[in-house]
Amino acid sequence: MHVAWRFLLRLLPMHASPPQHDRHAIKPRILTGDTPTHTGLHLGHWVGSLENRVRLQDEFDCYFLIANVHAFTTLADKPEQIRANTLGIVKDWIAVGMDPERSTFVLQSEVPAIAELTFLFAMLLPFNKVMRNPTLKTEIDSKGLGDTYSFGFPMYAVGQCADILVFRPELVPVGEDQEAHIEMCRDVAMKFNQMYCGVGNRVPQEGHVAAGGVFPIPKAKIGRVARLAGLDGVNKMSKSLGNAIFLYDSAKDVQKKINKITVVAEESTGLVAQSHVLLQYCDAFLSRERAEAIRADYAEGKNVMHGHIKAELGEAINALLEPMRARREALETAEGEARVLEIIRSGIKRANVVAEETLAMSKRSMKLDFAERRISY
Ligand code: ATP
Ligand code: MG
Repeated sequence: MHVAWRFLLRLLPMHASPPQHDRHAIKPRILTGDTPTHTGLHLGHWVGSLENRVRLQDEFDCYFLIANVHAFTTLADKPEQIRANTLGIVKDWIAVGMDPERSTFVLQSEVPAIAELTFLFAMLLPFNKVMRNPTLKTEIDSKGLGDTYSFGFPMYAVGQCADILVFRPELVPVGEDQEAHIEMCRDVAMKFNQMYCGVGNRVPQEGHVAAGGVFPIPKAKIGRVARLAGLDGVNKMSKSLGNAIFLYDSAKDVQKKINKITVVAEESTGLVAQSHVLLQYCDAFLSRERAEAIRADYAEGKNVMHGHIKAELGEAINALLEPMRARREALETAEGEARVLEIIRSGIKRANVVAEETLAMSKRSMKLDFAERRISY
C-alpha cells in the first residue's frame, strides 16, 4: 500500500464512527428477557435471571426484551391479556431494580428487524434440529399442547435466536431451561459468520467478530439457581403452570403457598420429590448455614418440624419481596401506567437503533443491501 494512504488510514478512525467490535470492547452487551404469559414474574425468574440482570447493569450495556409476539404462541386468542401482561412485566422489572435509564427495555413487536432476521435465520437451521430441541419438547408436554400447537410455536425457538443476535450481545443471563435455545443461537451465529462473512471454521468462537463476523458468539449466564422447582415439586416454577410464587403475591399468599408444599418422609432417601422443593427453597432463600443445618437434620432422620421451617422460609421470602411489592404497587396507578408506557416507547427508539444497524450489517453480508432504509418511531 502507498505510504500516504497508509498514513491517511491511520488517521481515519479518529473521524469515522468506531467499528462495532470496538464499541463492544468498551461495554459488552447483554440481552435477555421474558414472555408476557402472566401479569407478573416469579421467584424462579428472580434466582434464575433477574438477580443477574440487576447486578450487571453497570458493567454491561443491557437490553431486556419483552417477548410479546412469542406470547401469541400459547395465548393467540387473548390479545388484551398479553397487553396487560406486558405492562405487568415491565412493572415487575422496575420493581426488582432493573433501571430503564441505564438499560434498554425492548418491546419485541416494535422491532421489525427481529421478524426479518427470524426468517433469514430459519434458513440456517435444519427443521429436524428445531423440532428436537429439548426445551420445546418439555414445554409441549408440561403446557399440554399435544399435537395441535401452531406452526408459530416451534418457530419461536428460531425467533429467539433473532431476539438475541439482533443486539449482538456477549452474555445472555437465563435459567437452565433456556440452555438449548442459547446453544441453537450460538450455532446460528457461527453458521452466519462462516457462510456470509468469510469467517474460517477454525476461528475460535471469541475471535469471530475480529475475523469479520457480524455476530459475537454469545454465552449463557445461568443464575444462582439454575432451575427453581415449582410448588408442585414436578415441573420448574413457571408462569403458565399454576405452581409459582409471584413477586407481587401478598405476604399472606406467599405463606399459604409455602404451607401447601407436601412433605413426606421416606425411609431410604429421607424425602420424596415434593419435599425436595422445600429443601431447594431453603438453599435458595435462607442463609447457607441454616439451610445446611436443616439438610443435616433431614439426613440424620431427626424429627424435623416442617411447620417451623415453612414459617421461617415464608418470613425470608417475604423480606426479599416486600420492597419489590411496594415498588410494584406504586406503579399500579394512572401515573404509574403512563410512566410504564413512556419507558416502553423510549426503549423502542433505543432498541431500533442497534437492531437496524445489525440488520443492515447482516443484509450487507448476505448481498441484500439494495437500498438504505430508516424507520422512525
Ligand atoms: P412460561 O411458563 O410462559 O414459559 P416461564 O415461567 O418459563 O414462563 P419465561 O418467560 O419463559 O418464564 O422465562 C424467562 C426467564 O426466566 C428465562 O431466562 C428462564 O430461563 C428463567 N426462568 C423461568 N423459570 C425459571 C425457573 N423456575 N428457574 C430458573 N430460571 C427460570
Ligand atoms: Mg418458559
